[in-house]
Order: sequence, then C-alpha cells, then structure tokens
Amino acid sequence: MRAQVQRTFGGPEVTVIEDIDDPVPDPDELLIEVRACALNRLDLLQRRSALVRGFSLPHIAGMDVAGVVVGHGPGADPTMLPIGTEVLVDPVSTCGVCHRCTTGKPAYCDNLRTVGSTRPGGLAEFVAVPAGHVYRIPDGLSFVQAAAIPVAYLTAWHALVMVGEVQAGEKVLINAAGSGVSTAAIQFAKQAGAFVIGTIGGPARVAQALALGCDAVVDHYSDDVSDQVHAIVADGVDLVIDHVGTALFTASVDAMDVDGRMVFCGTTTGTQATVSLPSLYHWGRRLIGAGGWGPQEFAQMLEVVTSARLLPVIDSVWAFSELAEAQARMEAGGCFGKLVVEMA
Ligand SMILES: [Zn+2]
Repeated sequence: MRAQVQRTFGGPEVTVIEDIDDPVPDPDELLIEVRACALNRLDLLQRRSALVRGFSLPHIAGMDVAGVVVGHGPGADPTMLPIGTEVLVDPVSTCGVCHRCTTGKPAYCDNLRTVGSTRPGGLAEFVAVPAGHVYRIPDGLSFVQAAAIPVAYLTAWHALVMVGEVQAGEKVLINAAGSGVSTAAIQFAKQAGAFVIGTIGGPARVAQALALGCDAVVDHYSDDVSDQVHAIVADGVDLVIDHVGTALFTASVDAMDVDGRMVFCGTTTGTQATVSLPSLYHWGRRLIGAGGWGPQEFAQMLEVVTSARLLPVIDSVWAFSELAEAQARMEAGGCFGKLVVEMA
C-alpha cells in the first residue's frame, strides 16, 4: 500500500509517500481501507520529536480515520461490522488489565495505544485497528466529515460535557473558536442550551464563528479579552474551555464569574501561565485539567453527534500528495475547522 512514512524527525520533508506492505489485522482487529484522515496538532509535534511514551519510527501519522471495512482479524466478529461498512475509528485503546484499567481509571492506562501516535495511523491506504473501537459513520456524513470527528469531538465532549458538566443556561467562553476542538465545543454547548462566547482573530472568522452558533465573539488578539467578555456578560462566564494555554490563560481566569470553572486541555501557544492565586480562591474559581477520556465516551459523543445531526466544520480538503502543504496551513494558523486529507 501507499503510506506517508516518517523515518526521522524534522520538517515537512521527513514525511514521504512510500510503498510498504499492507497491515495484517491482529485477531481482534479490523482492516480499514482509509477514505479520509484529518490532521491534528500532534501530527506536527510528533514530526519534530517523540512526545509520547511508546512512539517509534518509522511512523505513519493520522489519528482521525474514516473508511470502509475490508477485512477482519481471525478473532473479530464479521457480522458486527461486515465488509463494506462505512466506519470511523476511536483512535485510543486501553489494555483492560493494568492497574489503572482495573481501578476505574482506564483513561490513564499504562499500555494506552493511539492510532497515528503509538500505532500506525491513517495517512495510508489501509490501517488495522481494534474492532471494539470502530463505529458506523452517522447517516448523512461523508468520509471527510466523519474523519473530522474523532479527536476534535471527543476532546470537546470530554472537556465540555464530561469534565466541564455544562448546563443549560450557563455562559460558556470557548477560546480559539476556529479550531477543530472549539468548533465541536461550540456545537455541543449550543446543543446543551448554553450561551456561548467565542474568542477568535480576524473579521472573516468572526462571521464564521457567529454563523456556527456563537452568541457573541471577542477578538483574542486584543489585550482586554476579559473586559470584552464582561462587557457581554457582566458577571463573567460560568465555564471556560481552553486549549491554547499561555496566550489566553490569565484573561480566561479573569473572565470567569464567581464559582466559575475553567477546563483546559491543550497548549498550542505555550505551556506556562501566570495566575494570581487570590483571583481564584477569593472568588471560588476552579482550574480543572481535562485529563484523558474513557473508553465509553466515544459512543456517548457519537450518539449526540448523530441525534443532533451535528455537521463537522471542514476548513479544507487535501489530496494525499499534498500533506506537506496541508500541515503548513495548519501550522500557519487562521484555519476554521478541520483540515482533512482525502485518499484518492
Ligand atoms: Zn490498561
């Protein structure tokens, strides 16, 4: 098969399309013919260095797989998802037997494996994945739209719903509203009945954020983000969802109402932040690291996507041969929604 293989660390030049052997599914795995695969920040980070325990070269990136079932390992039930079923993949699998798995914390499994990170990913014609992590594509979604779901929607679902426990009528601030995670979080927050303020840069993207469902938008390149939020909701917001880290962390704390909570799950602008401790404890504000998602959450998330007929936001679609250009666009910023590679 053809696959984007990374054999060393570096810039776009280190990933090249090669002909390699087709994967052979293990007993409990399915073989998927990949039709579309979305990009993630982790692809870029892992192109430069090994970040995650278990990562190894040569590597095939691609955590967000949508495709067609074309084979079953000898232990996988072929009647559950027969040949030809159109599917998407929960990229994270757990071992089920380690200390974390057997004490109710499988998200922190000692043997966690992730498609496109510590397993071969979907930037290839075929990928073998654990059968229990494969789901039918919701009706009406294309392969490109389905590929935009797994990481972005699961991250958003986990942070906003499972950890953030968003409630109807709450005021929610969602930073970097144009990112894949945030476009999903905006959809889930509106679905939950929240009032949503998004931060975004640039007039064109303001219009996109409002069209997606934000009730109000503030410019995250200004130095008064929290003042802008308080001008919209005087007391501040009940919940903040952040994955940008340094750039908006302090402003996000200041944007919270008393008893506000902030769930954070990423560091795209940096890993360090300065926070006034009294600004937290005087006002009962809580900072909550999102943590990992559990094995049951993908199905819960997908059920809401299906029942609410949510449509993933696609920034752009790229040919398999255009991966370097697609990664450059993601790295440059200014996207709105997911970048997806469509397999020819
Ligand atoms: Zn485990």
